[in-house]
Amino acid sequence: MSTLPSLSTWALNIAPSPTLAVDAKAKSLIAAGEDVCGFAAGEPDFDTPAHIKDAAIKALRDGKTKYAPTPGIPPLRDAIAQKYTEFYQIPTQAAQVVVSPGGKFSCYLTILATCSAGDEVIIPAPFWVSYPEMVKLAGATPVQILATDATGFKLTPAMLEAAITPRSKLLILNSPSNPTGAVYTLAELEALTTVAVKHNLYIMSDEIYEHLLYDGVKHVSPASFSAEARERTIIVSGFAKTFAMTGWRLGTIVAPATIAKAVGELQSQMTSNATTFAQWGALAAYTEKEKTQAALDEMLVAFDRRRKFLHTALNKIPGVSCVLSQGAFYLFPNIASFGIDDLKFCERLLAEHKVAAVHGSAFGAQGFMRISYATSDAILAKGVERLAKFCASL
Ligand code: GLU
Repeated sequence: MSTLPSLSTWALNIAPSPTLAVDAKAKSLIAAGEDVCGFAAGEPDFDTPAHIKDAAIKALRDGKTKYAPTPGIPPLRDAIAQKYTEFYQIPTQAAQVVVSPGGKFSCYLTILATCSAGDEVIIPAPFWVSYPEMVKLAGATPVQILATDATGFKLTPAMLEAAITPRSKLLILNSPSNPTGAVYTLAELEALTTVAVKHNLYIMSDEIYEHLLYDGVKHVSPASFSAEARERTIIVSGFAKTFAMTGWRLGTIVAPATIAKAVGELQSQMTSNATTFAQWGALAAYTEKEKTQAALDEMLVAFDRRRKFLHTALNKIPGVSCVLSQGAFYLFPNIASFGIDDLKFCERLLAEHKVAAVHGSAFGAQGFMRISYATSDAILAKGVERLAKFCASL
């Protein structure tokens, strides 16, 4: 057998997604008949609302099975532009909107459109696992700043200032946050945006959890603060989390027109349009607003109930402490007091007690673990009981 050339540096240096890896492991154990409590996936346990599925089925039947314009079908881009203009008071034209094959791809396109080799990208930790890898794939350098539970997992303007160098190009913000659920207040976000404007940084604002908010908290985007903020902010979002559409792979980008054009051109060479009939299905989320709101309300009631239950139950476990965050569907308890590496902790929790959760260091925060409460109340209760037993055994 001949010795083949090596694979690329990209292939050799990329770390596979740990969230997907732990979730796949949990799912394969469940498929093999194991009684696993799966807290790993950032995936709603609800089904996609029926009116959205029906619209996609109709689109298939109507022959919407061909290429669409790369940045998205016109009525969906119009509806998204209208949403940002009316709901968030961020004036948006359809030309500023790109529909991509997933929120993850929206992030990658944004990084590719704004960063080159040598540029630094500031990533507040705990961060979603894919940001640093995407930055590396773009040839740029990730710069992590850790904000622990001591500050509610939130970056302060002083911490941001301290990380900025002449090579800083892009700041990634993610509120509500994956993995902590933390939500910046308007004042906190405005202060960070002011620093980004002062230092002429782009902002990628990942707002995929924009509708999953509790305690009456309202979503704010950095793009809403001023014209200076808007001209440098790329808003990334998508349908997966809000509408339980993870498998549909539909993300969005809303950006100043020049950036949106660059993003669309990158996408034209990489994937072409996001799946055409899926976009026609997603359109129903906007055209049948009452049904959409009813489906979202149902999910929010369940998520909020589970959030409170989980927070109380976690804080009852000796050695565990957990901040009550106000967004997304994750809590990020501190498990440092047990004195074992968080990866080992989560591996043993799965092997010995059949609970799947993702270790904090995957998100840049050693000593924590992420629990997704996008799962049934019964599984949540059973899993927390097992976690308590495991902690007691340490
Ligand atoms: N974003 C979700 C999570 O964090 C889905 C998995 C992934 O793409 O990372 O669990």
